[in-house]
Amino acid sequence: MGVPLRQQITVGTYLLKQKLMGVKKYPLVLMLEPLFRCNLACAGCGKIDYPDEILDKRLSYEECMQAVDECGAPMVSIPGGEPLIHKEMPQIVAGIIARRKYVYLCTNALLLKKKIGDYTPSPYLTFSIHLDGMKERHDASVCQDGVFDRAVEAIKLCVERGFRVTINCTLFQGETPDDVAEFLDYAMSLGVEGATIAPGFSYERAPRQDIFIKGQDTKKLFRGIFEIGRKKRNWKLNHSTLYLDFLAGNQSYECTPWGNPTRNVFGWQKPCYLLPDEGYAATFKELLEDTPWDKYGNSSNPKCAQCMAHCGYEATAVEDTLQHPFKALIASIRGPRTTGPMVAEPTPKWMTEDRKSRPTIGGIPVRVE
Ligand code: SF4
Ligand code: SF4
Repeated sequence: MGVPLRQQITVGTYLLKQKLMGVKKYPLVLMLEPLFRCNLACAGCGKIDYPDEILDKRLSYEECMQAVDECGAPMVSIPGGEPLIHKEMPQIVAGIIARRKYVYLCTNALLLKKKIGDYTPSPYLTFSIHLDGMKERHDASVCQDGVFDRAVEAIKLCVERGFRVTINCTLFQGETPDDVAEFLDYAMSLGVEGATIAPGFSYERAPRQDIFIKGQDTKKLFRGIFEIGRKKRNWKLNHSTLYLDFLAGNQSYECTPWGNPTRNVFGWQKPCYLLPDEGYAATFKELLEDTPWDKYGNSSNPKCAQCMAHCGYEATAVEDTLQHPFKALIASIRGPRTTGPMVAEPTPKWMTEDRKSRPTIGGIPVRVE
């Protein structure tokens, strides 16, 4: 675990408070998307396919602070688009830090060298830099040559200046455990605090659909990566142990998207960061109270069927850790299990409902074409 103790204590105290107060749905990380405009056009991106009038919209400093205050989550992640394009970003970051929230500024790093002077190192500020693999892989993923070199240069500069830095890696089709292991070794050698890794979510809006890893292939890939990691590597992965165990096919979870609520230029996004067409709420309270949460999750909605994203399942794993600390401790000592049967996937409810609504012959549902 790469997260500093001070942050772990703050988050742990927050979680304990929610438990003691009997709060069932609480936010863990606010996803604050102050703009969709980006200076890259990655093949797997689901955020930049909007008309110019939307891409030109920004959340103001005041709107960002209102979102942080309304939500109350102890951590704020600022993805985009590319947040460094936003002219008020230094003030927004300073405003969040002044509220003693931990802020993760997610960037493709192209503007970082130019803008780094606008920021001051702080235990509350982490640059989360987008790198999907080694040079060839990353440049192919972001559809532009030379981006890997510029991102690495920016990482070194940030580390040198005393900033907290993590790497944000999304895995796509064609990845092998050896490739990812080589990349994680390299990432750690840059002196970063840790890395997040997750399978890419198959955004309907992404320009290419053939690049996403699906189902069992995802779990097999993660088992392969963790098997290599178990032998000799010292990777710091910024995830809870049970989320990693989930990625390896050893936990059956339903998502808890209210754990990572999203505020963007349209409002509070229902139900999560990944599904753009399910509507928006005007306030965080309205998001919590009016979203039909039961309609979402990998057993409840075909749009969610392949999702294993941390914005949906990390909060579930954290809740499971609180409910079953002994199980989490064992998983943390042994690491994610990489052999043996994987847990059964829950039967999708839409299939069960479809079966229930079918006519039957001798009690057996039949399909009427
Ligand atoms: S850097 Fe991020 S926001 Fe920009 S195009 Fe790529 S995935 Fe989308
Ligand atoms: S499974 Fe959860 S996190 Fe994933 S897309 Fe569906 S609602 Fe969002």
